[in-house]
Amino acid sequence: MKPDPNFKDDAADIAPYRCPRCRYRMDAASTLTGANCQPKAGDFSICMRCGLIMRFKDATHLRAAAPAEIYDLPAKERAMALKASMVIPYGYAKLTAQRRRS
Ligand SMILES: [Zn+2]
Repeated sequence: MKPDPNFKDDAADIAPYRCPRCRYRMDAASTLTGANCQPKAGDFSICMRCGLIMRFKDATHLRAAAPAEIYDLPAKERAMALKASMVIPYGYAKLTAQRRRS
């Protein structure tokens, strides 16, 4: 599979946290720009399993982002977050299906 040119493989290890919707465990964070990432309260994240758009309450706890918070993002970031939240669950399902076949 062709690598996504927007994805920078420089994820920083962080304290594990779980998605509040699907409980998927994540322990790394990265940005689309490749900037070093240590999440802080108020930062946005997206679950890599179900695509839920979330906000960090602190460095290790997240909650689902409110629709108004997503709406208030700058247009470019809002479009990127919404697109990612729709595409990620499809990619995750495809990846797990490939793993089951091999
Ligand atoms: Zn999730």
